Amino acid sequence: MTLQRPKGTKDHLPPGSPGLSLDIQASAHAHVQRVAAQVLERAGARLTATPLFEDAALVKRGVGGSTDIVRKEMFTVYYAGDHGGFVLRPEGTAPIVRSYLENGLKQLGSPLKLWTHGPMFRAENVQQGRLRQFHQVDYECIGSSDPLADAEAIALMWEIVTELGLRGVSIQLGSIGDPQDRAAYNEYLRELFAPHLDALSDDSKERLERNPMRILDSKSSSDQALIAELGVRPMLDFLGEDARAHFAAVQEFLREWEVPFEIDPSIVRGLDYYRRTAWELHHQGIGAKSALGGGGRYDGLAQELGSKAEVPGIGWAFGIERILLAMQDEGLSVPEPAGPLLYLAALEGAQVPLAAQLARQARAVGGAEFSYRKRGAGQAYKEAARLGARYAGVIGSEEAAAHALKLKHLGSGETSTVPFGELNTFLMTTFQGEDS
Ligand code: AMP
Repeated sequence: MTLQRPKGTKDHLPPGSPGLSLDIQASAHAHVQRVAAQVLERAGARLTATPLFEDAALVKRGVGGSTDIVRKEMFTVYYAGDHGGFVLRPEGTAPIVRSYLENGLKQLGSPLKLWTHGPMFRAENVQQGRLRQFHQVDYECIGSSDPLADAEAIALMWEIVTELGLRGVSIQLGSIGDPQDRAAYNEYLRELFAPHLDALSDDSKERLERNPMRILDSKSSSDQALIAELGVRPMLDFLGEDARAHFAAVQEFLREWEVPFEIDPSIVRGLDYYRRTAWELHHQGIGAKSALGGGGRYDGLAQELGSKAEVPGIGWAFGIERILLAMQDEGLSVPEPAGPLLYLAALEGAQVPLAAQLARQARAVGGAEFSYRKRGAGQAYKEAARLGARYAGVIGSEEAAAHALKLKHLGSGETSTVPFGELNTFLMTTFQGEDS
């Protein structure tokens, strides 16, 4: 047995831990989730959660058989020596749409805005900002094909990064059109690349058959060199009338709402079910190749998963680790959790249970901690200061006999004698007084 976490995973640690950076600070992850929750719930999104593992067939259909995720990056779940046909979820959209359809969530109204956060799993080549277990915030708006839904989804992402204090984020916006537009584009790409088959990577040779658009997404530098040499026309040139009008409307709303964006004619999302609007958020601090987040419209997904009716939808996800790396790059920090209101210690072993009892009682008002062992007064005040406590108290036989304890306000050094029965009222009044 080695004392080592699996490759591509991170422990999330408490503030003050050795070697701590923002992307592995547990309270920083919680802060991002909290800010996302505020922004999303203000807009009517409801929290949801799906299992960490799903049917492999669902993920394959939902994510697309030609994607790297399905072909190379799935973690298969084995149990009791048996392969149950499950995989750890690599993304949130297909599970949420599965859950929407399975649980009849259409009844909650249309469109329905849902959000979730949690770990996702992909067996990727590990590098900075590219993990095997990473964490996402996901938002999905299901049931509308209105361009307003697209604009609002993008604007919500922008509000979250802005509220987190990030200033160096750019939005790259594109459209991958309707299925017939993509078919025309794929045909164009097939003809364009066919005479250069030998120059393509093995992966891209396969993509030429199945989904030529994905060649443009290739990580191979020789593929990218060929793409540059051939001067490939962008998908945007192939948009039909409807997709073009939809794209124009989305841009119009974003301009009106002062959400800045750039048009990226080359945007191609790795997942097969996307339609029309697609976008990515980037930040110079985490490298041009890695996105902070991305999203798109997926009107074809529900039917791909077996729904009889078409259920339009749009959604996005961002990586919490990447958000935190970007925040660290900009020198941002997250609010530190406050220390306790009270720290109590007993001067003698006999009073330890009393100190414990009073501290537990004080938790009705705020944070209260106590020492499991007797401590000298000096030691107790030092510990209280280390914890960032507001008040410290010590209880000896005198205090126990008098049913009152001396509380020291660590900021001012002032002391007050407080009867045990009035401890909570005292803490509440001074606490409220200090806060206002
Ligand atoms: P995707 O589902 O591929 O569009 O990913 C959405 C977002 O999740 C990306 O923009 C990243 O921020 C994050 N993400 C995806 N894969 C990883 C990974 N392997 N490690 C860390 N973050 C990731």
